[in-house]
Amino acid sequence: MAQVQKICLNIWGSLMDLLYPSVCDVCGESLVRSEQYLCTSCLADFPFADKDYMTSKGILDLFEESYRPKELYSLFYYNKYSPYKNLIYLVKYHSYRQLGVYLGRMLGEQLLASCQADCIIPIPLHQKKQKARGFNQALEIAKGISEILKIEVLDDVVIRTQNNVSQTGKNSAERLKNVENIFELKRPERIQGRSVLLIDDVITTGSTIGSCLRELATAGDVKFYLGCLAQTV
Ligand SMILES: [Zn+2]
Repeated sequence: MAQVQKICLNIWGSLMDLLYPSVCDVCGESLVRSEQYLCTSCLADFPFADKDYMTSKGILDLFEESYRPKELYSLFYYNKYSPYKNLIYLVKYHSYRQLGVYLGRMLGEQLLASCQADCIIPIPLHQKKQKARGFNQALEIAKGISEILKIEVLDDVVIRTQNNVSQTGKNSAERLKNVENIFELKRPERIQGRSVLLIDDVITTGSTIGSCLRELATAGDVKFYLGCLAQTV
């Protein structure tokens, strides 16, 4: 029964992708023909994140120096009271793939002037989870960024070998231990000597990202940049 529900949700999501969205994904007001996903008012008030502020919060210091990203790019600020949190919900939990691509394009515009990456890697989902959801939201975001930056997306370099790793109730050291070895580098030759922009939808504790960075770094001579729609660290 759950499987049937998922299939129905996926079909509905695909239909939503095809149809012109009729309401703003932030405020719920009706959209006019020239608007897409967000109304003009919500777009004008879009809470773009300031790159220097994000970096100054010390998130990058969470990662070991050997694989620490040079920059963190986050598209916007949000908290639980912000109507903009709907965007994260829609990208992540609904089969609303085109919104991920759209927000990826917005993030790409923010990166144009400063990001030196030459390829993009979306954080992989476990195969089972991706099958259930029907897509990887990080890949959809990566596609949007790729359109703007004109650099390739590599989605076959690393895989996730473990699913459902709960971080609830764990301190930071336990969280790091908990996600050790959940990724496996499959094609090191594709990133050796390159600059990689690693993409996730939201960065919370940073421990999963750290685990992926550590695995990717074993390819040798890799520089990293980190990108997300929003972060809550
Ligand atoms: Zn709106």
